[in-house]
Amino acid sequence: MVETYRIIASPEETNKRLEDLIMKQLAQEINARFNELGVEIPIEEIEERLDKMINKFKVPKEEARRSVVNYFLKFHNINRNEFYTGGQSESPMANISDVAEDGKWVTIRGKVVQLWDNSHESIAQVGLIGDETGTIKFTIWESSGASSVEENKSYLFRNVVVNEWNGKFQLNVNKSSSIESIDEEIEVGNTTVDFMGAMVDIQSGSGLIKRCPECNRALTKGACMEHGKVDGVYDLRIKAVMDDGAFIQDAILKRDQVEEITGITLENAIAMAADALDQGVVLEQMKKLLVGKYYKLDGSKIERYLLVDSIAPVFSYDPSELDELIAAAEVI
Ligand SMILES: [Zn+2]
Repeated sequence: MVETYRIIASPEETNKRLEDLIMKQLAQEINARFNELGVEIPIEEIEERLDKMINKFKVPKEEARRSVVNYFLKFHNINRNEFYTGGQSESPMANISDVAEDGKWVTIRGKVVQLWDNSHESIAQVGLIGDETGTIKFTIWESSGASSVEENKSYLFRNVVVNEWNGKFQLNVNKSSSIESIDEEIEVGNTTVDFMGAMVDIQSGSGLIKRCPECNRALTKGACMEHGKVDGVYDLRIKAVMDDGAFIQDAILKRDQVEEITGITLENAIAMAADALDQGVVLEQMKKLLVGKYYKLDGSKIERYLLVDSIAPVFSYDPSELDELIAAAEVI
């Protein structure tokens, strides 16, 4: 089954969406803590107050949070210490396929399938976690203080809250959450999709890249967002823009597929960059080789990305040639 969709979010929209998410998760956190103390405060009411402080009065988020919490503490006559200390009970374990419910608190046992680049200062890590039933995006907020995660390792994400945005769900790791590493191999189930179309562009951050040795994030100008200047580890990656005439699909190719489709190995790429004293030559060469050609891809679709498992070239043809071919075949 071919499943496709269009990229619609502009950078401004994405930023707006992030800001909304941050607000929403703050509100959920506050709501959950009051719930534990037996006080039901509608999330909308909390969000409204946060929104006013953050967006209208430009109060920093942490300050806004404190102030909104204080307001409700006073209103409901709750002691500050009780609010900030009381231990919280653990949210129930859930399968990833069962968490499609906005505002639900769960504990998830899963494997981190992918970590994605992120450039928002409020976010420590963002990626994809999976269990036997499927995969879901997660966001570890900087304010959570949770320990960081690595790709292909398994974890318990305790007390995380589900957010829904435009019909898509994600897990938020916030102040009430914790992450525990577990020594367990998890077989991740996913939805495979395929896509056939032309590669119309390759985005920056492709070609020969360097990753942080600690967290595997792609480095920007030699620095990791989390760990600063580090001695990066070389890798190959392509962020391709595919177009099938009706839809545009972003696709991410890992080193294996990049080597296979370009014939440029990681060692070749490192040598090319050393010769030219410029890492950019690798990306330029890859663009020359791939852009404008047709490929058939399959992999798993996560948010707007197709994480490619396999890629193969497809013969492209000129429609007029096809007519000739059919005519020739009819003669035979
Ligand atoms: Zn790092």
